[in-house]
Amino acid sequence: MSLKDKVVVIMGASSGIGAATAKLLAGEGAKVTIAARRMNRLEEIKKDNPAGDILVVEADVTKADDVQNVIDKTVAEYGRVDALFNNAGIMPVNNLDQIARDEWQNMMDINVKGVLNGIAAALPIMKKQKSGHVITTSSVLGYEVLPGYAAYSGTKYAVRAIMEGLRQEEHQNNIKTTIIAPGSVKTELFDSINNDEVRNGLKEAMKQPGSGMMALQPEEIAQAVAFVIDTPANMAVNEMVIRPTGQE
Ligand code: NDP
Repeated sequence: MSLKDKVVVIMGASSGIGAATAKLLAGEGAKVTIAARRMNRLEEIKKDNPAGDILVVEADVTKADDVQNVIDKTVAEYGRVDALFNNAGIMPVNNLDQIARDEWQNMMDINVKGVLNGIAAALPIMKKQKSGHVITTSSVLGYEVLPGYAAYSGTKYAVRAIMEGLRQEEHQNNIKTTIIAPGSVKTELFDSINNDEVRNGLKEAMKQPGSGMMALQPEEIAQAVAFVIDTPANMAVNEMVIRPTGQE
């Protein structure tokens, strides 16, 4: 890999896919900014990877100023932004008849507005550099809808639409776009399901071989992210769908 000295900003880096990506990229010599709300988790990642060049910045992606601050601090520290990984997300699961207005609002703010905040903060510097790469985590549920996941799927379809729009508007400015669409991955995401029955049922199902719900490890998704960042300048992987082989 030739990730050395690439400057990569990861939003939602305190656990799961974001944390695994931060560790992998820092291990390959990239300069990595890690951002999320849980500072203790971010500081732990930095402490556990003493050889890595890691900048920790606290940010809530729903707040435009926080996200701008992440980009500004990265530019102040490293001089540029080669890639932004919009990865922050939550996945509350409920049928629509549960009228979970607060959940919907929170999820739209994090999963959709958070991505727009990232694009808004990073695009000006990428356009100035005449190069950049925006990577956003969608999901297999950005391609299909299942009962209970309507609102979550809505956010993941939305970010695919936003990313395709970004691609059309900015490809001539040498800005790459990638949608990473994982199937089931073993992370803390399932803890964001407030419905106890659904949460516990899913966690149990993921443990059963042959259930079609065997999960990948976040480190495996991190490899995909590293791969797309490491592609030559003339090559953009625009979408990558990554399922556990046994997932339906
Ligand atoms: P985790 O729960 O482990 O990670 C979610 C990350 O998002 C955490 O770092 C969390 O940090 C961050 N986050 C949540 N809300 C905010 C916020 N308001 N501001 C800043 N950061 C926030 O789960 P995953 O690693 O699985 O999730 C990463 C992405 O992958 C999500 O977008 C998810 O939808 C997507 N995905 C996951 C799949 C899976 O099976 N796990 C499948 C398909 C897609 P903190 O709480 O510290 O702010």
